[in-house]
Amino acid sequence: MTTEFDDKGFATRAVRSGQTRSLEGEHSEPIFATSSFVFDNAEQAAARFSGEQKGNIYSRFTNPTVRTFEQRMTALEGGKAAIATSSGMSAILSTFMALLSSGDHIVASRSLFASTRTLFDKYLAKFGVEVSHVDLTDLTAWQNAIKDNTKAFFLESPSNPLNEIADLTALSELAKKHGSFLIVDNCFCTPALQQPIALGADIVVHSATKYIDGQGRCVGGIVVANDVDLIVEVYGFLRTAGPTMSPFNAWVFSKGLETLNLRMKAHSENAMQVAQWLEGQAVIERVYYAGLNSHKQHQLAVKQQLDFGGIVAFEVTGGREAAWQFIDATQWLSITANLGDSKTTITHPATTTHAKLTDQERNEIGISENLIRLSIGLEDVEDIKQELKLGLLAVATR
Ligand SMILES: *Cc1c(COP(=O)(O)O)cnc(C)c1O
Repeated sequence: MTTEFDDKGFATRAVRSGQTRSLEGEHSEPIFATSSFVFDNAEQAAARFSGEQKGNIYSRFTNPTVRTFEQRMTALEGGKAAIATSSGMSAILSTFMALLSSGDHIVASRSLFASTRTLFDKYLAKFGVEVSHVDLTDLTAWQNAIKDNTKAFFLESPSNPLNEIADLTALSELAKKHGSFLIVDNCFCTPALQQPIALGADIVVHSATKYIDGQGRCVGGIVVANDVDLIVEVYGFLRTAGPTMSPFNAWVFSKGLETLNLRMKAHSENAMQVAQWLEGQAVIERVYYAGLNSHKQHQLAVKQQLDFGGIVAFEVTGGREAAWQFIDATQWLSITANLGDSKTTITHPATTTHAKLTDQERNEIGISENLIRLSIGLEDVEDIKQELKLGLLAVATR
């Protein structure tokens, strides 16, 4: 899919791509709140249904507002085509339903969004798809996990919540060598900070719910690929099974993209300041942020990302109780598991987002009882620090 803005800069594509004005001459993108579309006559209806003529039929299949979002995301990720879905999870599910068969094998990072891990281990497993979980950062482990029936590599980079970084170029070469797809969940960086397709990924999936919306309003997802045929496969599943994006949500996400570049810079700037400041505090044992020199893969992050994003994780001295006291001492930070919002959120991963894992699984991926995750918002950074000071004080005076 090429549009007149493909050769323009990122910010221009984010504002302009994907819009086709109707005869009304509207400036902003309209919301096509319609479940179906009408035909001029019976012959045209037949031609649309047979696929002989292109065009809208029904909004489970296509909708112009959803298409605007898909084209804009395609332009930003540098892909060839995209298909929007009802949630980030349905983007992942639809990709696998389209590309995998019973008997196939996936190599996946062991530090994954918890529902993704459940989808793999509980549901895909039920249909005979086998998943091996490996250390995200250990190339040899990925290589050793490959089998004859390995169809796909799946990972998030940076990972949630510890900001581990995968070497996307090396993994894409490895995947290609074995005829497997590399699928990257690009939720934490968004295309504003990292474009996995340019680094060799075949497919990028997103929870649009997070930074793409950016203001915590809608749930949605998208699959972008470097190959139109892959999206045709995913679309085939989607139009049949139905986890389609609503036009209203697509409109919110398209408008979100117009400010994505600015927001990701501001999130990253605030997060960097908070991370550096936290690192110097007495009751903080460790800070996990790829922008810090102390981060194990800082150099790799510098190489493949434009900035380091808004997620900062840290460990306080003490255990679960200390972490909970820290969280409860803050006054207006939002205690919620959502991330990528303009509002700063604070979470205790071990008892919320990662509560379903066994103790051993949590240990393996480094989610300790004293770990806290921040999704740094767009408030004044000095005010965010004041809030965190309340937490520090609560831990220091336990
Ligand atoms: C939230 C999230 C998802 C799932 O997205 P939903 O929109 O909640 O379905 C997948 N991957 C990552 C990394 C996420 O943060």
